[in-house]
Amino acid sequence: MTERNYTTVNPCIMCQPMGSVMAFKGIENSMMLLHGSQGCSTYMRLHLAHHFREPVDIGSSSLSEKGAVYGGSENLKKGLKNLILRYNPEVIGVSTTCLAETIGDDIRRIIAEFREEECIGNERIIIPVPTPSYEESHNSGYIKAVEAIVKEFTMDDSGKNIFNNKLNIVLSENISPEDTREMKQILSNTVGSNSYILLPDISETFDAPMTGELQKITPGGTKHSDIADMKNSAATIGMGITNDNRAVSFLEQTFEIPAQNLPLPIGLEYTDRVLATLSKIAGIDIPEAYQKERGRLIDAMVDSHKYVYGTKVAIYGDPNNVLGMLSLALENGMHPILVVASSKSPRFAEYAMERVKQVKPDCDVTILEDVDFDTFNDAVKKAKPQMLIGNSNGKYIAKEMGIPLVRFGFPIHDRVGAQRILSLGYRGAMIMLDKITNTILEVEDARLEAKWAEPESYVPLGENSFHPAEA
Ligand code: SF4
Repeated sequence: MTERNYTTVNPCIMCQPMGSVMAFKGIENSMMLLHGSQGCSTYMRLHLAHHFREPVDIGSSSLSEKGAVYGGSENLKKGLKNLILRYNPEVIGVSTTCLAETIGDDIRRIIAEFREEECIGNERIIIPVPTPSYEESHNSGYIKAVEAIVKEFTMDDSGKNIFNNKLNIVLSENISPEDTREMKQILSNTVGSNSYILLPDISETFDAPMTGELQKITPGGTKHSDIADMKNSAATIGMGITNDNRAVSFLEQTFEIPAQNLPLPIGLEYTDRVLATLSKIAGIDIPEAYQKERGRLIDAMVDSHKYVYGTKVAIYGDPNNVLGMLSLALENGMHPILVVASSKSPRFAEYAMERVKQVKPDCDVTILEDVDFDTFNDAVKKAKPQMLIGNSNGKYIAKEMGIPLVRFGFPIHDRVGAQRILSLGYRGAMIMLDKITNTILEVEDARLEAKWAEPESYVPLGENSFHPAEA
């Protein structure tokens, strides 16, 4: 593996404000303003638009050389004024970029001054989220933004303080709009459609129906009254176990709301765990519809087993998604020889190793985190997987190695439909398993076609064959 500690080559992560934008996009009637130079919001708008195939508007304070030298206070105030004039959002998230953090602009002070100077009332909520981009990743930016949103809404004394007996569900990592819809369906079918508060909810905002009407701010997202009501809930579940879900800890410590963290329900075991917990909280048996879906998933696993068993895979991407996909691969008899989380998180390696030991203790797996694509490239060449599972950015490595890439996670900018990829729940597991199995079968078809084209010649089963039993 390349020995480097001085630079990053082709990072696997995106910067913190990107995560902040994704979190605010799941809040009703909100807009994001990035305090920094224009290129930052352009980069994020493009990246998100390519993945979700939706227009993504992000304001910028457009800092120039003057702002970099004398401070960006005036630019930020002007940016906020313009954003209010043009979009009229009820909530504005303000995140810092590299430049604003480097010059040390205090966005809390600037926002307080702006409120006073422009006589902004309490009906307009402006939430500062400092996100220095030269440390951590989009994942930590997401967690910080969700925490800041929860703090802002729940610390406001104007809301009611009546026990609502609801369940808070707080995501600690971005999931697709289709996954969000599945999550909401699972919650409706277990705890009840009016008995949970999901934050953030991008099911509509990042995948809006075409109506022919151009809306400046896409409808949808978690309602403000619901976020304020989170302090009155009976319990909180943090979705994702590899990171510290700061909003969950805040609700627990400040309002004494019992909390637990669960893995994203990817694959059989993790979906079982989530459904069992939700059904227990609701005081019901696991709904029959999910018992049937589970049976279908097991049927699908039996069908696919002879094709996927023993396939060496490398899985990479955001930590909670990778952990879920690792679990799914192990449950299906695959051999995950390389498992890579794009960013560092406190418990990724521990949970990944725990899952390997539970299912396939003899699996020789390399677990890496916080690496760039250059290091990942070296690791792939060393491990020689037969398939990659991860985002679009691994396609050059897959091409060079002559192996297929099953697209999963964020970002997927070279294919359509990323917003509709379902990986959560039993249905998501079935879809992912079908995708993986069919990819293997396509590769085998191509190999066998070459063999059939010259019947007299013998095409030996090489080490890249997906049928180790035949090899
Ligand atoms: S890394 Fe810094 S400069 Fe680059 S887009 Fe992110 S915030 Fe802007």
